[in-house]
Amino acid sequence: MNYRLSKQKIGDFLASLMNEYEVIAPVNDNSLIKFKQISNTDKIILDFGNSRYSLKKYFLPNKQVLFKYTKEDIQEELDNKKRIIFGIKPCDVHALLIMDKLLLGEDLEDIYYKTKRNNTIIFALANNKPGENEFSSSLGTDKLERGYDLLFFDKGDYYIIKSGSEKARGFTNNLEQTEEEPQAELNCEKSLSEEQISKLKTSFDSPVWKEESEKCFSCAGCTTTCPTCGCFDVRDDPNLDLESGSRIRIDASCQLKNYTGVAGGHVFREGRDSRFKHRYYHKLDYFKDQYGKHMCVGCGRCITNCPAKIDMTEIINKL
Ligand code: SF4
Ligand code: SF4
Repeated sequence: MNYRLSKQKIGDFLASLMNEYEVIAPVNDNSLIKFKQISNTDKIILDFGNSRYSLKKYFLPNKQVLFKYTKEDIQEELDNKKRIIFGIKPCDVHALLIMDKLLLGEDLEDIYYKTKRNNTIIFALANNKPGENEFSSSLGTDKLERGYDLLFFDKGDYYIIKSGSEKARGFTNNLEQTEEEPQAELNCEKSLSEEQISKLKTSFDSPVWKEESEKCFSCAGCTTTCPTCGCFDVRDDPNLDLESGSRIRIDASCQLKNYTGVAGGHVFREGRDSRFKHRYYHKLDYFKDQYGKHMCVGCGRCITNCPAKIDMTEIINKL
């Protein structure tokens, strides 16, 4: 069974949840669409391509205290806030499903990520407008079969809402039922076909890597804004008393030289071209060999946020 909600009532619907949940939604922030906590539903943007930055910070913040310690005690810092994120586009839901493979695996379960994931309700918004530089329609990540609690389809004056989880039941009790079956079509201007991607298998020694990496600043903008880049480093941050402090984890990027540095000073990916190439192979080749799907969801953010205007789809085309 699907549900119907007039667009005029979406504000009241979300506002009614604010007592129990922190509600995160897309807003206009200095002419950029960003996901932020809202206290006033008037500020929500309903018609947008995609947000400039991903939702990664709500699940894997770029800096996070794991625990605080004293000589006698350790206190874990788990984020138990209950959140609803409204307006997540399908490619970003796919990104979360990829992060789940990495951080909620059978061998390793990241309790910090798991706590945030379990406490977050996903209200996804079916795609009808591509984000800047998005190419999800060629990777099949523009549509959703799972990964959401509610999925909203924009039908002009109203939404058709699909329920996708047990948790969603509590949110649909007062909604009008409908048998209308919604669909959404996304036509991205950019594309990246499997045939093009398969060129990676025979292009490891291509001169394209050296040529193209010369434009790269090694700034890590692409990995920082990518919704499926989850590498981090763990450090201790001692207090001046040297008897207490925090253990923190912070973003790490394979585009920076120290990422593959080891004791003794050796750096495995010393050359910028090898770091540059690694990102393409990890996103579009190695991960699929290991997990059966690409690590890239085609959100286009690494293109939009690259100061050197390096375009992943163009690089693969050159191969
Ligand atoms: S590699 Fe680029 S396009 Fe692919 S998911 Fe990451 S940011 Fe998005
Ligand atoms: S954002 Fe662009 S310039 Fe910066 S590391 Fe990535 S590819 Fe290189």
